[in-house]
Formats: sequence, structure tokens, C-alpha cells
Amino acid sequence: KLFNELQELKGNIRVFCRVRPFLPAQGAANTVVEYVGEDGELVVTNPTRPGKDGLRQFKFNKVYSPTASQADVFSDIRPLVRSVLDGYNVCIFAYGQTGSGKTYTMTGPDGSSEEDWGVNYRALNDLFKISQSRKGNISYEVGVQMVEIYNEQVLDLLSDDNSQKKTLGILSTTQQNGLAVPDASMYPVTSTSDVITLMDIGLQNRAVGSTALNERSSRSHSIVTVHVRGKDLKTGSVLYGNLHLVDLAGSERVDRSEVTGDRLREAQHINKSLSSLGDVIFSLASKSSHVPYRNSKLTQLLQTSLGGRAKTLMFVQLNPDATSYSESMSTLKFAERVS
Ligand code: ADP
Ligand code: MG
Repeated sequence: KLFNELQELKGNIRVFCRVRPFLPAQGAANTVVEYVGEDGELVVTNPTRPGKDGLRQFKFNKVYSPTASQADVFSDIRPLVRSVLDGYNVCIFAYGQTGSGKTYTMTGPDGSSEEDWGVNYRALNDLFKISQSRKGNISYEVGVQMVEIYNEQVLDLLSDDNSQKKTLGILSTTQQNGLAVPDASMYPVTSTSDVITLMDIGLQNRAVGSTALNERSSRSHSIVTVHVRGKDLKTGSVLYGNLHLVDLAGSERVDRSEVTGDRLREAQHINKSLSSLGDVIFSLASKSSHVPYRNSKLTQLLQTSLGGRAKTLMFVQLNPDATSYSESMSTLKFAERVS
């Protein structure tokens, strides 16, 4: 019900803000988060301007305090995830600076147990389980693809030969069953162990060719796409839905005076694709007649799942530390613009 109301208001776009806790290594740190309200209010304070003048208030569809568990978060989005079984296309993004908890929300911490599982594991697991338990008239098949967009190139994360990563093409298709990246490997999911195995392969492949996983993963977008095909056994009609789970590249501004060469090129690609994503979501939210999908690989790939009947959720991730204040403000302004 909540989602339907929001749908009317926001053209199918919701923004949930998640504040991560301080890490033990950060010690006793200063927070910029003043207040988290139950109805999505968030108040942050400028550490260099104590008092009323430094306060800024934001309002989102939901705000999670640092104590929110992975299960809490998933239980709020479960209805959205399940709408894929009714033929909806859904995109869920994690946006924020590097270190703000994007991967934690989408995947979970390294070597995570089931309790720590992020949205990707939980969504895949939930969808295949439901698809098997709904024995009625509809028989479902669940498949998954995983790709990465790095420097405006699309790479397969589930390929069995990742020694030579080849660039994949994007098909712009308006057909409901059309795959945006037909050449990316697709695997069926029929058990929890399939979910774990596929996620492992994807995470490992994300690291290939880079010395430090964190470095590379903060400069690429990773996209897990769950395809659901439901066939009505009585009428023979078929419905398709897909769910894109996107761990975006870090949104931090890179100081142009300090980087050159590859690093500068990466930064330019990231800026371009994140601002294109912002422009697309903004024009959808403001019901503009022109939606600029063509400006980045990310928005081209997601085109049929952004806008129209599709549903979009953005997790806006915040690092509460005072030293992240200016990055947090630019994250919040991005979120405010699209919500
Ligand atoms: P990002 O992907 O945005 O760069 P990470 O997801 O890697 O950030 O998070 C940075 C660090 O913070 C990691 O050590 C992660 O385990 C930890 N972390 C993030 N969010 C949470 C959370 N909600 N609870 C506990 N630890 C978290
Ligand atoms: Mg990450």
C-alpha cells in the first residue's frame, strides 16, 4: 500500500537513506547526523558551523539509522522485489561515496553469513523460493546475469573465461522479453547454493585484473540482473519481469588538479554516468517528456527498466563521520534532486 501511494506521488521512484555505523577503527568519531526520524526525516549538521546555522533537514521515503539490520532493510523492500513476479521491471541502486556502505547494503560484508547477506542474496533467494512455491497455474523460471561497467565498457562477471574480458554490446529493445545485454552469461537459479555460487563467481571476477579489489570496485558499476519468466499453464501466456541490483561507482569528487592519465579518465567516466543517471531519474520524477537515456552505458542498459511501469529505488548511503561532511552533502543533494 505504501508503495502504491508513493508511486502516485513520485512517478515510481523512492529514495531510502541508510547511515552506516562508525567502524571500530574510526574510534570515537564525530557524527554529522543530528536526527533520524521515523518518517524519513534526516537532520545533518555542519561540523564547522555548530548551532542552528549549521543544520540542514532532508526528507526521504525512509531513513535507516546505523542500527538497522540487513533483515530490516530487506523486509521493507521485499514487496518491491516480489513485484517482478507480476511482470514489473525494477531497479534498485546504491549511491554514495566510497566507504559509505553501498556494497554492504547490496552484497554484505566480506565472507558474510546468511544473517549479514545484503539485498542481492536475499532478493535472489526470495525470488527463486517463491517461484517454486507458487504452484498454482504459473510456472516460473529464474535466471541471473552479472555485468560490470568500467570506463563505459560492459564486461561479463559470470563468464567462465575471465582471462580475456570482452566488451559486451547493449541492445536497446522495447520488447518486454528483450535482454539488454544478450551476450552476457545467464545462469538459472534453482537453489540457495546456486545463489551463493553465482554471487561468489561474480565477486571474484570483479577482482580479476586489478591489484586491489576495493580500488577497482569503487570505480565501476556492478549490475546483477534477475530475470523472471512466468508461464500460465492454462492459457499459455507468458510474462517477464526483471530486477536490476546496482552497486554504483563511488560518487566522490576527484580533484582534477591531482589526478592524471587513467585515473582522470576513470573519474570522468564515473562523473558522466552518475550525472546521466541523475538526469534520467530527475526527468522521470518531474515527468518530463524527454528522458535522456542515451548519455551513458548505465542508463542505456537500464532503459527498459527505468520509467514507464518500471519501479525504481535508490539507497542513498552516508558515512556519518564529520570528515565526510562535504561528500555527504553532495550525496544528499543528489538524492534530493531525484526524490
Ligand atoms: P562502499 O561499497 O560504499 O565503498 P562498503 O560497503 O565497502 O562501502 O562499506 C565500508 C565499510 O563499512 C566496510 O568495512 C563495511 O563492512 C562497513 N559497513 C558499511 N555499512 C555497514 C553497516 N550498515 N553495518 C556495519 N558495517 C557496515
Ligand atoms: Mg563497494
